[in-house]
Amino acid sequence: MKTLKNYINGAWVNSASVNTIEVLNPANQEVLAKVPYGKDTAKDVVVATETAFKAYKEWSKVPVMRRVQVLYKLKSLFEENKAEIAKIITNESGKTKGESFGEIQRAIENIEVACGTPMLMAGDVIEDIATGIDEMMIRQPVGVTACITPFNFPSMIVFWFLPYAIATGNSFIVKPSEKVPLTMMKIFELLDQLDIPKGLISLVHGGKESVDAILEHPTIKAVSFVGSTAVARYIYSKGTANGKRVQAQGGAKNPVIVLPDADIEMSSNIIADSVYGCAGQRCLAASTIITVGDEKREIKDSIYETVKSRTTGYGWDDNISMGPVITAESKSRIAGLIQKGIDEGATPLLDGRNTSVSGYENGNFLSPTILENVALDKDLIRTEIFGPVMSLISMSNIEEALQFVNSGNYGNMACLFTSSGASARKFRNEADAGNIGINIGVAAPMAQFPFSGWKDSFFGDLHGQGKHAIEFFTQTKVVIERWPNIWSRKF
Ligand code: NAD
Repeated sequence: MKTLKNYINGAWVNSASVNTIEVLNPANQEVLAKVPYGKDTAKDVVVATETAFKAYKEWSKVPVMRRVQVLYKLKSLFEENKAEIAKIITNESGKTKGESFGEIQRAIENIEVACGTPMLMAGDVIEDIATGIDEMMIRQPVGVTACITPFNFPSMIVFWFLPYAIATGNSFIVKPSEKVPLTMMKIFELLDQLDIPKGLISLVHGGKESVDAILEHPTIKAVSFVGSTAVARYIYSKGTANGKRVQAQGGAKNPVIVLPDADIEMSSNIIADSVYGCAGQRCLAASTIITVGDEKREIKDSIYETVKSRTTGYGWDDNISMGPVITAESKSRIAGLIQKGIDEGATPLLDGRNTSVSGYENGNFLSPTILENVALDKDLIRTEIFGPVMSLISMSNIEEALQFVNSGNYGNMACLFTSSGASARKFRNEADAGNIGINIGVAAPMAQFPFSGWKDSFFGDLHGQGKHAIEFFTQTKVVIERWPNIWSRKF
């Protein structure tokens, strides 16, 4: 089994580390590759950063209209290679075919939005801010930048950052999740075909050691992170203490309220897709469903009917609605949380443990689980499960439900199902979360909008995507000008 190479200075090179870990297909535990790991991966970051700095110096002088030309080419390459990338995503992350194609589309949309950088990074000018004096604000790149990404969207998440970083004139280092490095290997084969300076975009593997090297290297000026809250908090505090800009997106526990005036069938289908899509391993997966009022039984029955027919299996097979979870440890952690919930008084309407898929007996499969009457003061209702588990609770009115929503530590997403404009408006205004869905189950901001997590779901100021990304990857410079000949003539 070959060990994956890094991509540094425009070439595929061996890691300084001889240690590796295995990349497994979560549907059958097949070893797909070995990925460099351990303390010597920090040396790879140092080499990548040196070449990235040289590339940034050259690239930042290239006019922005020319810089975005490489994004048009990248979009075409993505389109041409979609099927191959999707299959790699499914094999290393467990997603279904549709989910893999879906995340590639979201990556492409970010490339498209970043093609607007020549307009988006424009500055401001005020002529005669004082007599004979003009003042302008221009945006310049910050220099060498880096991103560290999680396992659950092997292609998309890097593109919340990469296209904006390079279009605004920076260089960029990618440290993908060690659980799913193969998608980035394929994408870097595409990046290798772009007409850009060597070292402008680099790929460095590893885990905590390569991340720490990124956080410690003085030449790296900005770090984008997406992953669990504990690591996000660490990245933010260490990165900012070392003088870097940091945007760190963390975990989530997303509540959904269903009001009595909601369309029951539509709501049930959308909620089930949100809870069980990507096997519940989405940071915008609905987790706790709060039914309000007397319609509880009807909603519960409808959700149950929708969910019980969902098929679990290897994601590339036809008619599969849910793939495996990422690792065997993750599967047993989720099963343990289900058991804990039951021990604490929850009733299982559907119990997805003990799922076996014919032909994939070693896969990390769980089927949909629905737990009813989950105790509000216990762990299950506050912990991010990151698996296909729905907790159903009920409350007597929207005020009580909103109070519950706002009592959580996370603030990634909150959703409301209703046919009342007034209730929707109240919810939009009062819910403490950065991404709000009204009759939407996965309120994922499109590329034009920032991915706006709040509270423990985000550390930083500027989020990924769209105008926030342009601001994150540029520093403002204000120039005040007075020209002596004008000055002399005037006075
Ligand atoms: P993770 O935090 O375990 O890993 C994310 C990245 O951090 C990986 O590249 C990993 O190598 C690195 N890392 C792990 N431990 C580290 C440590 N101690 N020090 C330094 N670096 C470390 O997350 P994951 O399990 O890959 O992904 C799932 C998590 O990501 C969930 O909590 C999910 O909610 C979150 N997520 C959030 C968003 C969002 O937009 N808020 C999007 C996707 C996923």
